[in-house]
Amino acid sequence: MPVRIVNVPLGQRSYAIKIGPRLLRRLGAECARLKLGKRCAIITDTNVGRRYARPAFDSLANAGFSPSLVILSPGEATKHPKSAAVCYDRLADHRLERKSFIVALGGGVVGDLAGFVAATYLRGVPLVQVPTTLLAQVDSSVGGKVGVNLKAGKNLVGAFHQPRLVLCDLDALRTLPEREFRAGLAEVIKYGIIYDADLFARLERDLPKLMRRDAQTLADIVARCCEIKAEVVGQDETDNGLRSILNFGHTIGHALEAISHYGKYLHGEAISIGQVAAAKLSSEVLGLPARQVGRITNLFERAGLPTRAKLNARQGQKFFGAMRLDKKVSGGEIKFVLAKRIGKVVWGERVPGALIEQTLNGKP
Ligand code: ADP
Ligand code: ZN
Repeated sequence: MPVRIVNVPLGQRSYAIKIGPRLLRRLGAECARLKLGKRCAIITDTNVGRRYARPAFDSLANAGFSPSLVILSPGEATKHPKSAAVCYDRLADHRLERKSFIVALGGGVVGDLAGFVAATYLRGVPLVQVPTTLLAQVDSSVGGKVGVNLKAGKNLVGAFHQPRLVLCDLDALRTLPEREFRAGLAEVIKYGIIYDADLFARLERDLPKLMRRDAQTLADIVARCCEIKAEVVGQDETDNGLRSILNFGHTIGHALEAISHYGKYLHGEAISIGQVAAAKLSSEVLGLPARQVGRITNLFERAGLPTRAKLNARQGQKFFGAMRLDKKVSGGEIKFVLAKRIGKVVWGERVPGALIEQTLNGKP
Protein backbone atom coordinates (compact mmCIF):
# COMPACT_ATOMS: atom_id res chain seq x y z
CA MET A 1 0.00 0.00 0.00
CA PRO A 2 1.50 3.35 -1.00
CA VAL A 3 2.01 6.06 1.62
CA ARG A 4 -0.51 8.82 1.08
CA ILE A 5 0.81 12.33 1.43
CA VAL A 6 -1.37 15.34 2.13
CA ASN A 7 0.22 18.76 2.08
CA VAL A 8 -0.94 21.46 4.46
CA PRO A 9 -0.35 24.67 2.50
CA LEU A 10 0.76 27.36 4.94
CA GLY A 11 3.61 29.13 3.16
CA GLN A 12 6.77 28.91 5.26
CA ARG A 13 4.93 26.76 7.76
CA SER A 14 3.71 24.18 5.21
CA TYR A 15 4.09 20.54 6.15
CA ALA A 16 3.19 17.04 5.05
CA ILE A 17 0.78 14.58 6.60
CA LYS A 18 1.91 11.04 5.77
CA ILE A 19 -0.62 8.26 6.09
CA GLY A 20 -0.02 4.54 5.81
CA PRO A 21 0.82 1.28 7.56
CA ARG A 22 4.18 0.65 9.28
CA LEU A 23 5.13 4.33 9.41
CA LEU A 24 6.27 4.40 13.03
CA ARG A 25 9.42 2.47 12.15
CA ARG A 26 10.22 5.22 9.65
CA LEU A 27 9.91 8.02 12.21
CA GLY A 28 13.68 8.50 12.49
CA ALA A 29 14.26 8.58 8.73
CA GLU A 30 11.37 11.01 8.27
CA CYS A 31 12.70 13.32 10.97
CA ALA A 32 16.16 13.17 9.44
CA ARG A 33 14.74 14.85 6.30
CA LEU A 34 13.55 17.83 8.34
CA LYS A 35 17.01 19.10 9.26
CA LEU A 36 16.38 19.26 12.97
CA GLY A 37 18.75 19.10 15.92
CA LYS A 38 20.09 15.84 17.31
CA ARG A 39 18.28 15.88 20.63
CA CYS A 40 14.58 15.24 20.89
CA ALA A 41 11.93 14.18 23.38
CA ILE A 42 9.09 11.74 22.81
CA ILE A 43 6.07 12.69 24.89
CA THR A 44 3.49 9.93 25.29
CA ASP A 45 1.14 8.28 27.81
CA THR A 46 1.42 4.89 29.48
CA ASN A 47 -1.15 3.14 27.22
CA VAL A 48 0.54 4.28 24.05
CA GLY A 49 4.05 4.16 25.47
CA ARG A 50 3.68 0.51 26.47
CA ARG A 51 3.03 -0.40 22.86
CA TYR A 52 4.77 2.16 20.71
CA ALA A 53 7.47 4.04 22.66
CA ARG A 54 10.09 1.40 21.92
CA PRO A 55 9.75 1.39 18.11
CA ALA A 56 9.58 5.20 18.11
CA PHE A 57 12.66 5.48 20.32
CA ASP A 58 14.67 2.90 18.34
CA SER A 59 13.76 4.41 15.02
CA LEU A 60 14.96 7.84 16.17
CA ALA A 61 18.12 6.44 17.75
CA ASN A 62 18.94 4.40 14.61
CA ALA A 63 18.65 7.57 12.55
CA GLY A 64 21.27 9.22 14.75
CA PHE A 65 19.04 11.20 17.07
CA SER A 66 19.34 11.31 20.82
CA PRO A 67 15.80 10.81 22.15
CA SER A 68 14.53 11.09 25.68
CA LEU A 69 11.21 9.60 26.72
CA VAL A 70 8.55 11.40 28.80
CA ILE A 71 5.65 9.14 29.79
CA LEU A 72 2.53 10.67 31.36
CA SER A 73 -0.72 9.24 32.72
CA PRO A 74 -3.46 8.75 30.16
CA GLY A 75 -6.63 10.82 30.23
CA GLU A 76 -7.91 14.35 29.93
CA ALA A 77 -6.60 15.34 33.38
CA THR A 78 -3.07 15.13 31.97
CA LYS A 79 -3.83 18.03 29.63
CA HIS A 80 -2.99 20.45 32.41
CA PRO A 81 -0.37 23.17 32.99
CA LYS A 82 1.13 20.93 35.70
CA SER A 83 1.99 18.24 33.14
CA ALA A 84 3.48 20.92 30.91
CA ALA A 85 5.71 21.94 33.82
CA VAL A 86 6.80 18.32 34.31
CA CYS A 87 7.70 18.18 30.61
CA TYR A 88 9.65 21.47 30.72
CA ASP A 89 11.85 20.12 33.51
CA ARG A 90 12.50 16.92 31.63
CA LEU A 91 13.39 18.83 28.46
CA ALA A 92 15.80 21.00 30.42
CA ASP A 93 17.38 17.87 31.99
CA HIS A 94 17.89 16.44 28.53
CA ARG A 95 19.32 19.81 27.44
CA LEU A 96 16.97 20.38 24.53
CA GLU A 97 17.93 23.41 22.43
CA ARG A 98 16.15 25.63 19.96
CA LYS A 99 16.72 23.16 17.12
CA SER A 100 15.82 20.12 19.20
CA PHE A 101 12.35 18.76 18.62
CA ILE A 102 9.42 17.16 20.35
CA VAL A 103 7.56 14.09 19.14
CA ALA A 104 3.95 13.84 20.30
CA LEU A 105 3.17 10.12 20.33
CA GLY A 106 -0.45 9.47 21.28
CA GLY A 107 -4.04 10.64 21.02
CA GLY A 108 -5.44 14.13 21.22
CA VAL A 109 -4.51 14.59 24.87
CA VAL A 110 -0.83 13.91 24.25
CA GLY A 111 -0.86 15.85 20.96
CA ASP A 112 -2.38 18.98 22.47
CA LEU A 113 -0.17 18.91 25.57
CA ALA A 114 3.09 18.04 23.81
CA GLY A 115 2.22 20.61 21.14
CA PHE A 116 1.70 23.24 23.81
CA VAL A 117 5.03 22.34 25.39
CA ALA A 118 6.69 22.61 21.95
CA ALA A 119 5.03 25.98 21.36
CA THR A 120 6.29 27.43 24.63
CA TYR A 121 9.59 25.78 25.55
CA LEU A 122 12.41 28.17 24.57
CA ARG A 123 9.62 30.23 22.89
CA GLY A 124 9.00 27.38 20.51
CA VAL A 125 10.79 24.25 19.31
CA PRO A 126 9.86 22.07 16.31
CA LEU A 127 7.05 19.55 16.75
CA VAL A 128 6.38 16.23 15.05
CA GLN A 129 2.93 14.74 15.53
CA VAL A 130 2.54 10.95 15.59
CA PRO A 131 -1.19 10.57 16.29
CA THR A 132 -2.32 7.11 17.44
CA THR A 133 -6.09 7.55 17.74
CA LEU A 134 -8.53 7.94 14.86
CA LEU A 135 -9.63 11.28 16.28
CA ALA A 136 -6.09 12.59 16.47
CA GLN A 137 -5.22 11.33 12.98
CA VAL A 138 -8.15 13.02 11.28
CA ASP A 139 -8.49 16.07 13.47
CA SER A 140 -6.41 17.21 16.41
CA SER A 141 -2.89 16.53 15.08
CA VAL A 142 -3.47 18.69 11.99
CA GLY A 143 -3.86 22.46 12.04
CA GLY A 144 -1.63 23.63 14.85
CA LYS A 145 -4.09 24.16 17.68
CA VAL A 146 -2.37 23.15 20.90
CA GLY A 147 -3.24 23.81 24.50
CA VAL A 148 -4.10 22.72 28.01
CA ASN A 149 -7.21 22.87 30.19
CA LEU A 150 -7.97 24.95 33.25
CA LYS A 151 -10.56 24.28 35.96
CA ALA A 152 -12.66 26.96 34.30
CA GLY A 153 -12.76 25.12 30.97
CA LYS A 154 -11.07 23.10 28.28
CA ASN A 155 -8.33 24.52 26.05
CA LEU A 156 -8.40 27.89 27.77
CA VAL A 157 -4.61 28.24 27.51
CA GLY A 158 -3.04 27.52 24.17
CA ALA A 159 -1.31 28.58 21.01
CA PHE A 160 -1.12 28.00 17.29
CA HIS A 161 1.99 25.94 16.66
CA GLN A 162 2.06 24.02 13.41
CA PRO A 163 3.89 20.69 13.39
CA ARG A 164 6.74 20.10 10.94
CA LEU A 165 5.33 16.69 10.04
CA VAL A 166 2.34 14.51 10.89
CA LEU A 167 2.91 10.77 10.69
CA CYS A 168 -0.30 8.71 10.78
CA ASP A 169 0.60 5.05 11.23
CA LEU A 170 -2.61 3.18 10.47
CA ASP A 171 -1.34 0.06 12.26
CA ALA A 172 -1.52 1.95 15.56
CA LEU A 173 -5.31 2.06 15.19
CA ARG A 174 -5.49 -1.72 15.56
CA THR A 175 -4.98 -1.53 19.31
CA LEU A 176 -7.38 1.36 19.86
CA PRO A 177 -10.30 0.40 22.15
CA GLU A 178 -13.59 0.05 20.26
CA ARG A 179 -15.29 2.91 22.05
CA GLU A 180 -12.41 5.28 21.21
CA PHE A 181 -12.48 4.19 17.59
CA ARG A 182 -16.20 4.90 17.30
CA ALA A 183 -15.74 8.27 18.92
CA GLY A 184 -13.23 9.10 16.19
CA LEU A 185 -15.83 8.21 13.57
CA ALA A 186 -17.91 11.17 14.75
CA GLU A 187 -15.23 13.54 13.40
CA VAL A 188 -14.95 11.48 10.21
CA ILE A 189 -18.69 11.74 9.55
CA LYS A 190 -18.45 15.46 10.30
CA TYR A 191 -16.17 16.00 7.29
CA GLY A 192 -18.80 14.44 5.05
CA ILE A 193 -21.51 16.72 6.38
CA ILE A 194 -19.54 19.95 6.29
CA TYR A 195 -17.54 19.54 3.09
CA ASP A 196 -17.98 16.44 1.01
CA ALA A 197 -21.25 14.76 0.04
CA ASP A 198 -19.33 12.02 -1.79
CA LEU A 199 -17.40 11.18 1.36
CA PHE A 200 -20.69 11.03 3.25
CA ALA A 201 -22.14 8.64 0.65
CA ARG A 202 -19.01 6.51 0.77
CA LEU A 203 -19.30 6.31 4.56
CA GLU A 204 -22.91 5.17 4.20
CA ARG A 205 -21.70 2.44 1.86
CA ASP A 206 -18.43 1.42 3.51
CA LEU A 207 -19.18 1.92 7.20
CA PRO A 208 -19.05 -1.83 7.96
CA LYS A 209 -15.61 -2.11 6.36
CA LEU A 210 -14.44 0.99 8.16
CA MET A 211 -15.67 -0.36 11.49
CA ARG A 212 -13.79 -3.59 10.82
CA ARG A 213 -10.78 -1.28 10.40
CA ASP A 214 -10.12 -2.62 6.92
CA ALA A 215 -6.68 -1.29 5.97
CA GLN A 216 -7.53 0.06 2.52
CA THR A 217 -10.73 1.74 3.66
CA LEU A 218 -8.99 3.30 6.65
CA ALA A 219 -6.21 4.63 4.44
CA ASP A 220 -8.65 6.23 1.98
CA ILE A 221 -10.87 7.72 4.64
CA VAL A 222 -8.14 9.05 6.94
CA ALA A 223 -6.42 10.60 3.92
CA ARG A 224 -9.61 12.25 2.68
CA CYS A 225 -10.38 13.69 6.13
CA CYS A 226 -6.84 15.07 6.38
CA GLU A 227 -7.18 16.60 2.91
CA ILE A 228 -10.32 18.41 3.97
CA LYS A 229 -8.82 19.62 7.21
CA ALA A 230 -5.68 20.75 5.34
CA GLU A 231 -7.79 22.68 2.83
CA VAL A 232 -9.78 24.42 5.53
CA VAL A 233 -6.77 25.22 7.71
CA GLY A 234 -4.82 26.36 4.64
CA GLN A 235 -7.47 29.01 4.02
CA ASP A 236 -7.95 30.10 7.62
CA GLU A 237 -4.99 29.16 9.79
CA THR A 238 -5.93 31.22 12.83
CA ASP A 239 -9.66 30.55 12.93
CA ASN A 240 -11.20 33.83 11.81
CA GLY A 241 -13.74 32.47 9.36
CA LEU A 242 -13.95 29.25 7.34
CA ARG A 243 -12.24 27.20 10.03
CA SER A 244 -15.34 27.52 12.19
CA ILE A 245 -17.11 24.97 9.95
CA LEU A 246 -14.98 22.36 11.74
CA ASN A 247 -17.07 23.19 14.79
CA PHE A 248 -20.24 21.70 13.35
CA GLY A 249 -22.03 20.02 16.27
CA HIS A 250 -19.43 21.28 18.72
CA THR A 251 -21.31 24.11 20.47
CA ILE A 252 -23.87 21.64 21.77
CA GLY A 253 -21.25 18.89 22.11
CA HIS A 254 -18.93 20.98 24.26
CA ALA A 255 -21.80 22.01 26.53
CA LEU A 256 -22.81 18.36 27.00
CA GLU A 257 -19.22 17.46 27.87
CA ALA A 258 -19.02 20.33 30.33
CA ILE A 259 -22.24 19.57 32.22
CA SER A 260 -21.30 15.92 32.54
CA HIS A 261 -17.92 17.12 33.85
CA TYR A 262 -16.14 15.36 31.02
CA GLY A 263 -17.12 12.02 32.51
CA LYS A 264 -20.13 10.61 30.76
CA TYR A 265 -19.30 11.29 27.13
CA LEU A 266 -16.16 10.99 25.09
CA HIS A 267 -15.68 14.03 22.85
CA GLY A 268 -16.78 12.06 19.78
CA GLU A 269 -19.94 10.89 21.53
CA ALA A 270 -20.87 14.40 22.63
CA ILE A 271 -20.39 15.83 19.14
CA SER A 272 -22.39 12.96 17.67
CA ILE A 273 -25.36 14.16 19.71
CA GLY A 274 -24.39 17.75 18.85
CA GLN A 275 -24.29 17.09 15.11
CA VAL A 276 -27.64 15.33 15.07
CA ALA A 277 -29.11 18.29 17.00
CA ALA A 278 -27.42 20.73 14.61
CA ALA A 279 -28.91 18.81 11.66
CA LYS A 280 -32.39 19.16 13.16
CA LEU A 281 -31.80 22.87 13.78
CA SER A 282 -30.60 23.15 10.19
CA SER A 283 -33.85 21.73 8.99
CA GLU A 284 -35.83 24.32 11.01
CA VAL A 285 -33.64 27.30 10.19
CA LEU A 286 -32.23 26.58 6.72
CA GLY A 287 -34.60 24.00 5.35
CA LEU A 288 -32.18 21.07 5.34
CA PRO A 289 -34.47 18.36 3.90
CA ALA A 290 -35.91 15.92 6.46
CA ARG A 291 -34.54 13.01 4.44
CA GLN A 292 -31.01 14.32 4.88
CA VAL A 293 -31.55 14.78 8.63
CA GLY A 294 -32.60 11.14 8.60
CA ARG A 295 -29.48 10.03 6.73
CA ILE A 296 -27.27 11.94 9.16
CA THR A 297 -28.97 10.52 12.25
CA ASN A 298 -28.88 7.05 10.78
CA LEU A 299 -25.16 7.13 10.00
CA PHE A 300 -24.23 8.16 13.55
CA GLU A 301 -26.52 5.41 14.89
CA ARG A 302 -24.93 2.80 12.65
CA ALA A 303 -21.51 3.93 13.89
CA GLY A 304 -22.66 3.00 17.39
CA LEU A 305 -22.76 6.59 18.57
CA PRO A 306 -25.40 8.27 20.76
CA THR A 307 -27.71 10.66 18.91
CA ARG A 308 -29.72 12.26 21.68
CA ALA A 309 -29.41 13.40 25.27
CA LYS A 310 -32.45 13.66 27.48
CA LEU A 311 -31.91 16.53 29.88
CA ASN A 312 -34.12 17.20 32.88
CA ALA A 313 -34.97 20.79 33.80
CA ARG A 314 -31.93 21.27 36.04
CA GLN A 315 -29.52 19.77 33.52
CA GLY A 316 -31.16 21.88 30.81
CA GLN A 317 -30.39 25.04 32.74
CA LYS A 318 -26.79 24.04 33.28
CA PHE A 319 -26.54 23.12 29.62
CA PHE A 320 -27.53 26.60 28.46
CA GLY A 321 -25.18 28.15 30.97
CA ALA A 322 -22.35 26.00 29.62
CA MET A 323 -23.16 26.89 26.03
CA ARG A 324 -22.88 30.59 26.80
CA LEU A 325 -19.42 30.01 28.32
CA ASP A 326 -18.12 28.37 25.15
CA LYS A 327 -14.94 29.99 23.81
CA LYS A 328 -16.63 30.54 20.49
CA VAL A 329 -19.35 32.74 21.95
CA SER A 330 -18.66 36.42 21.48
CA GLY A 331 -20.73 39.30 22.76
CA GLY A 332 -23.03 36.86 24.53
CA GLU A 333 -24.55 35.58 21.29
CA ILE A 334 -24.58 31.91 20.41
CA LYS A 335 -23.90 31.31 16.75
CA PHE A 336 -24.13 27.99 15.00
CA VAL A 337 -22.69 26.16 12.05
CA LEU A 338 -25.69 24.80 10.19
CA ALA A 339 -26.08 22.60 7.11
CA LYS A 340 -27.83 23.70 3.93
CA ARG A 341 -27.45 20.20 2.62
CA ILE A 342 -25.08 17.31 3.23
CA GLY A 343 -21.68 18.56 2.07
CA LYS A 344 -22.43 22.27 2.50
CA VAL A 345 -22.61 24.26 5.73
CA VAL A 346 -22.74 27.94 6.66
CA TRP A 347 -21.51 29.54 9.86
CA GLY A 348 -22.55 32.40 12.09
CA GLU A 349 -26.23 31.41 12.16
CA ARG A 350 -28.25 32.74 15.06
CA VAL A 351 -30.60 30.19 16.65
CA PRO A 352 -33.26 30.97 19.26
CA GLY A 353 -32.67 29.24 22.61
CA ALA A 354 -36.19 27.79 22.68
CA LEU A 355 -35.57 25.98 19.41
CA ILE A 356 -32.37 24.44 20.76
CA GLU A 357 -34.24 23.23 23.82
CA GLN A 358 -37.06 21.69 21.78
CA THR A 359 -34.61 19.99 19.48
CA LEU A 360 -32.49 18.47 22.22
CA ASN A 361 -35.47 17.17 24.09
CA GLY A 362 -36.33 15.05 21.10
CA LYS A 363 -39.04 16.94 19.32
CA PRO A 364 -39.81 14.51 16.49
P1 ADP B 1 -8.38 11.47 21.81
O1 ADP B 1 -7.38 11.18 20.75
O2 ADP B 1 -9.70 10.88 21.53
O3 ADP B 1 -8.43 12.92 22.15
P2 ADP B 1 -6.82 10.42 24.12
O4 ADP B 1 -5.54 11.04 23.78
O5 ADP B 1 -7.36 10.66 25.49
O6 ADP B 1 -8.01 10.76 23.16
O7 ADP B 1 -6.73 8.85 23.88
C1 ADP B 1 -7.80 8.03 24.22
C2 ADP B 1 -7.34 6.81 24.99
O8 ADP B 1 -6.79 5.85 24.10
C3 ADP B 1 -6.26 7.08 26.02
O9 ADP B 1 -6.49 6.26 27.13
C4 ADP B 1 -4.99 6.66 25.29
O10 ADP B 1 -3.98 6.28 26.20
C5 ADP B 1 -5.47 5.50 24.47
N1 ADP B 1 -4.76 5.27 23.22
C6 ADP B 1 -4.34 6.20 22.34
N2 ADP B 1 -3.86 5.63 21.24
C7 ADP B 1 -3.95 4.30 21.42
C8 ADP B 1 -3.63 3.17 20.62
N3 ADP B 1 -3.15 3.29 19.39
N4 ADP B 1 -3.88 1.94 21.14
C9 ADP B 1 -4.41 1.80 22.36
N5 ADP B 1 -4.76 2.81 23.15
C10 ADP B 1 -4.54 4.06 22.69
ZN1 ZN C 1 -14.03 17.74 17.74
